[in-house]
Amino acid sequence: MKGTMKHAILLFCLLATARVAVVAQGDGTPVDWVNPLMGTDSKRELSNGNTYPAIALPWGMNFWMPQTGKMGDGWAYTYDADKIRGFKQTHQPSPWINDYGQFSLMPVVGMKIDQDQRASWFSHKAETVHPYYYKVYLADHDITAEITPTERCALFRFTMPATDSAAVVIDAFDRGSSVRIDAAHRRVSGYTTRNSGGVPSNFKNYFVIEFDRPVDFYSAWDGGRLVAGDEVTGGHAGAILGFRCPSGAVIGARVSSSFISLEQAAFNLDREVGSLPFEQVREKAYDRWNEILGRVEVTGTDRQRETFYSCLYRSVLFPRAFHEYDAAGNPLHYSPYNGQVLPGYLFTDTGFWDTFRCLFPLLNLLYPSVNAKIQEGLLNVYRESGFLPEWASPGHRGCMVGNNSASVVSDAIIKGITGPAIAVPLYEAMLKTANSVHPRVRSTGRAGFEHYNRLGYVPCNVGINESAARTLEYAYDDWCIARAGRYLGRPDEEVRLYEQRGQNYRHLFDPETGLMRGKNADGTFQTPFNPLKWGDAFTEGNSWHYTWSVFHDIQGLIHLMGGKERFVTRLDSIFRLPPIFDESYYGGVIHEIREMQIMNMGNYAHGNQPIQHVIYLYNHAGEPWKAQYRVREVMEKLYRATPDGYCGDEDNGQTSAWYVFSALGFYPVCPASDEYVIGSPLFTAATIHLENGKKIRITAKENACDRPYIRAVRWNNKPHDKNFLNHFDLLRGGELTFQMSEKPLPTRGTLPAAAPFSFSK
Ligand code: CA
Repeated sequence: MKGTMKHAILLFCLLATARVAVVAQGDGTPVDWVNPLMGTDSKRELSNGNTYPAIALPWGMNFWMPQTGKMGDGWAYTYDADKIRGFKQTHQPSPWINDYGQFSLMPVVGMKIDQDQRASWFSHKAETVHPYYYKVYLADHDITAEITPTERCALFRFTMPATDSAAVVIDAFDRGSSVRIDAAHRRVSGYTTRNSGGVPSNFKNYFVIEFDRPVDFYSAWDGGRLVAGDEVTGGHAGAILGFRCPSGAVIGARVSSSFISLEQAAFNLDREVGSLPFEQVREKAYDRWNEILGRVEVTGTDRQRETFYSCLYRSVLFPRAFHEYDAAGNPLHYSPYNGQVLPGYLFTDTGFWDTFRCLFPLLNLLYPSVNAKIQEGLLNVYRESGFLPEWASPGHRGCMVGNNSASVVSDAIIKGITGPAIAVPLYEAMLKTANSVHPRVRSTGRAGFEHYNRLGYVPCNVGINESAARTLEYAYDDWCIARAGRYLGRPDEEVRLYEQRGQNYRHLFDPETGLMRGKNADGTFQTPFNPLKWGDAFTEGNSWHYTWSVFHDIQGLIHLMGGKERFVTRLDSIFRLPPIFDESYYGGVIHEIREMQIMNMGNYAHGNQPIQHVIYLYNHAGEPWKAQYRVREVMEKLYRATPDGYCGDEDNGQTSAWYVFSALGFYPVCPASDEYVIGSPLFTAATIHLENGKKIRITAKENACDRPYIRAVRWNNKPHDKNFLNHFDLLRGGELTFQMSEKPLPTRGTLPAAAPFSFSK
């Protein structure tokens, strides 16, 4: 062990023992440990998560957030902001993708409708943030605002000062919204059409807001101006409803919405809220969160528990349910693909380039019944648009590369989560999506599929950007298709074709540099080649990051590199290299590069997804202790339940699910295989409550921050000398016991039989 390693361990020990503010009183339930502000201290130039506090239920159709940014700004809640402009119903998956269907409420004193005029100073010291409840003091109005959510609705409570001019501003946002005030019934209805793309022309989010107190005065408004009448349609519509409360008052509002119709919005309110008071809705939300988060119980330090449950919270927000329910309880949805209202489930707001890696495998382990519905929804997307989605928000969006829907679909099929009636047509959908490209949204389907199918790779000189990243991901995706094909008993010839294509990564391996490299159509490698250049043939990463995107055949990659020793040396090099980079493809330093540069981990870029499985690959090459050390270093150093607590974009559960898995002691390096690769468990004890009623009890004896190494593993009291665990073994429940150590044990997990799945093995 090198001196620097020892030094680093001591450093993260110091951090681990420092106690940070505890959200909960006493020991707390799982949701009490969640800090929804984790990751909110972010900006364009540097992402510490690029998250916002989502006040919501797990996978809820609507989230709520305090809005600090201006209308349309993707950085809608930033921790360093001074003022809140409103409380926004949001569907935003990321600031880069931005929002759709958003509208807001803001309690004020006086007729202040403009987003700057109505904005109020606030302090995090006078802010209470839980997933199920938000409360803040709006200083400029002397008003306390509270929110508690259901899946599609929310209850608000505004504690008004003694005044004759208390009011609530309803802002339906610009670009073609509508409001109608029905003062007699204390009600405002309307819709917003605001979106950031990926919707048909008839897209609307219809909302209904009902107050629990007579309205004393009101006005509609358009843009910045109050207008006469009860109704405004088109442009930037809004309403302000006033309340005379000379002794102060607590004013409640019930808010609901629907992508289908106003009637459906009213129905959603009856169905989810009915006559329940604020406290009861909050209690139900609290219980729902504990039901979902409580699937995993952990014993660790306060800091570890806060980080774990904050990450688990982020892992169960997206993809959001986009469907609603009819009176008979059947799901139905407005299709963001064809504009029709159709039966069945639909989920959205996720980019598979990020989330195929471990977010979906996490659902398959902890919440398979939810992913079964998501898979039904994917089939609906295929039926409504002719493609499986790659980045959906709410419809197809042009973003990132790959065809990783194949991984998401195949993992659920081979783990038996998708029923045959859904799996068979989903398999057909994978074949179609793998051999075509969406006519308008080039990141849906496979850009360059003709080249890829003919040559085995997408050339770097035929006008298709990030061609090496595409090739590597398509090859893995092909292997995923083969896995599902085999499971579903498809013809051998067809399965073998996709298995063969799964080997296409070999075309891009450059024996001279030992790295993946772009290739021209004539078979020569791209020149010049700088393996530290971000982008170009790769996507938001360099060759050092992307070379390992052979999830399904690490043994094949080990062969190409010339054996285990060279493979391990290359892995070590990622951390040994200084954080140097070539940003010329982007014409500037993108935030992902900056987040690599500043972490003091060399060229390891945990803040972006391509490298997130790479630490675990030491297990494939017989040196698992290096994975154990690094995985603990990343958990302790790069994650914390604080506003700056992530090390790059959180990305819809992916970066959080990495922590959740890693803290439990294993990680799904290759989704669509049935294995998890062992890392280093963070907790002394953890229990997973599986949906099938079984339990997995994980114990790490003599575990401590300076004892990340595994001496021995036992599964159900039998010695387990493999570097991986099988999904179906885990599903049967049992005891997983680790014996931890302060020193690596260079004899455990070194044999070829200990190595995790590889196609070439
Ligand atoms: Ca990312």
